[in-house]
Amino acid sequence: MLIDTHIHLDADAFAPDRQTLMDAARDAGVGAYVVPAVTAAGFDALDALADATPNVARAYGLHPLYIDRARPEDLELLAQRLARPDAVAVGEIGLDGFIPAPDLAAQLPWFEAQLALAKRFDLPVILHVRHAVEPIIRALKKVGVRGGIAHAFNGSRQQADTLLMMGFKLGFGGTLTYPGSRRIRALAESLPMDAIVLETDAPDMPPVWARAQRNEPVNLARIAETLAELRGESLADIVAATEANARCALPRLNTLLA
Ligand SMILES: [Zn+2]
Repeated sequence: MLIDTHIHLDADAFAPDRQTLMDAARDAGVGAYVVPAVTAAGFDALDALADATPNVARAYGLHPLYIDRARPEDLELLAQRLARPDAVAVGEIGLDGFIPAPDLAAQLPWFEAQLALAKRFDLPVILHVRHAVEPIIRALKKVGVRGGIAHAFNGSRQQADTLLMMGFKLGFGGTLTYPGSRRIRALAESLPMDAIVLETDAPDMPPVWARAQRNEPVNLARIAETLAELRGESLADIVAATEANARCALPRLNTLLA
């Protein structure tokens, strides 16, 4: 099956037609979703969605873009959620060097605190790495976690290899469908197959055929086809390998999907 390893299915953008979109995605071969929370205020809504929807895996984290509204007690709420046996990862967490505020110095303590929680609960992490791969690698080396997924990876081959050695898989999505995304396409073509997981990041990051529109779960199937074309491999091989990679990166998926 196809596994969407990064989708904000809990987003308000999907409130009107979430089930319809998931039905269409299921018919296209999408069998499971990993939904990372982005704020503590969203944990309840994520739980409600995952409780009500088969094959939705939950991850809990405080996203760097929203860290300016996080409170210290949110880390305690996060720890409570991470104690759940059905939490598959800590995420979405990371650093964003693209936004002007909050700056990296403000984001870093929250990131390191959440990495420490990942270590304490022995959970993988789902990383947001925009324009911040180097400081992220430094923080990972400092804290030491068991790996996970670097979502929407857009770094160098050397950075990719470093993350792979640290136990991470790299998430590829709609960006690889744009002919101009040369670096990402070159990585997707040349990385070892066991390095890659698929994601939509829906409703964000629409692929080229949905440019400037809401990204939807069904698009994962065509993203997988694009990856198969780029690598000159069969779609069946891509589906099988990326499913295995997702299960390897997030071992509790095996319980959810048993
Ligand atoms: Zn995301």
